[in-house]
Amino acid sequence: MYKVLARDGLAKRGRLQTVHGVIETPVFMNVGTAAAIKGAVSTEDLQRIKTQVELSNTYHLHVRPGDDVVKRLGGLHKFMVWDKPILTDSGGFQVFSLAGLRRIKEEGVYFNSHIDGRKIFMGPEESMQIQSNLASTIAMAFDECPSSVADRPYMEKSVERTTRWLGRCKEEMRRLNGLPDTINPRQLLFGINQGGIYEDIRIRHAKEIAAMDLDGYAIGGLAVGESHEDMYRILDAVVPYLPEDKPTYLMGVGTPANILEAVDRGVDFFDCVYPSRNGRHGHVYTNQGKLNLFNARYELDGRPIEEGCGCPICRTYSRAYIRHLLKAKEMLGMRLCVLHNLYFYNTMMEEIREAVEKGCYREYKADKLAHMTGREV
Ligand SMILES: [Zn+2]
Repeated sequence: MYKVLARDGLAKRGRLQTVHGVIETPVFMNVGTAAAIKGAVSTEDLQRIKTQVELSNTYHLHVRPGDDVVKRLGGLHKFMVWDKPILTDSGGFQVFSLAGLRRIKEEGVYFNSHIDGRKIFMGPEESMQIQSNLASTIAMAFDECPSSVADRPYMEKSVERTTRWLGRCKEEMRRLNGLPDTINPRQLLFGINQGGIYEDIRIRHAKEIAAMDLDGYAIGGLAVGESHEDMYRILDAVVPYLPEDKPTYLMGVGTPANILEAVDRGVDFFDCVYPSRNGRHGHVYTNQGKLNLFNARYELDGRPIEEGCGCPICRTYSRAYIRHLLKAKEMLGMRLCVLHNLYFYNTMMEEIREAVEKGCYREYKADKLAHMTGREV
């Protein structure tokens, strides 16, 4: 169901066939944590900005509105009226980053909800059950996300537990996919590689999970505060040990430059809150760098955010108008910036796919990076 269509160096151009349609890779998944992309972006909007995959979060939807509610309403696709692929994050990262007091045990994690403080338990089986109720296209394995500065003995123990949890995730997913009332009995499962910035732990873990024959493989625990050099060093080390004939997903990454570098190292799935978060703050991406639309220089600027951009926003609105909306705290200002930014990312992925197919990825990457200097235009 996943095929590599072309290669250029380590960069791969792939296609993942799912029960909810085809995903052309490399792909940037658009993050809608609580079943909506922040910035008042609707499903109709996503259809207009080339979104292929929407990403929602298990932990957030479990605490509100509750995955049992979503299941009774027919699953996430029906609930949010989106018929294309959805990936659900396992909740692991949020349990470790958002939740207050927590205790990690072999069976799973005990913690308090960040909404109302109530006690919650989540282990591999619970995460799979929630994701099965949500009925996403791709479910992520439940893993521990240790701090990037965790010491080596802790990291080794943590990664061993993550491997044991992965075995339990796989078994539970198999069971759930066989139940008569499961909404999506063809739900896919991606495993997650951990190990911080220790190359040897990463590689050992990659070999272990590669042998487990999963539908795809993610690299987790990066982009959490380490340097870009460390991130690229780990990718150089670990990607060659993940199955080539399966999707390779770098979780939570990143800037356009991070994505361009990671594609060059064999990664083909990405997700990140940057385009929507930056958009909500009036920061917009262009091929000449990022602009801050709050800047006074745009007060009388009748040009679109980026000349030549084919997005619905740039075909209609001026920098001056969007700046006014942002200054007046009109919600529309944020929304227009978020839509342009997601379109920018989705279009860059399209260009990346084309460049890999043509065998000119390195030239494309160099040219793209040379122009995105970060200066204001
Ligand atoms: Zn645009």
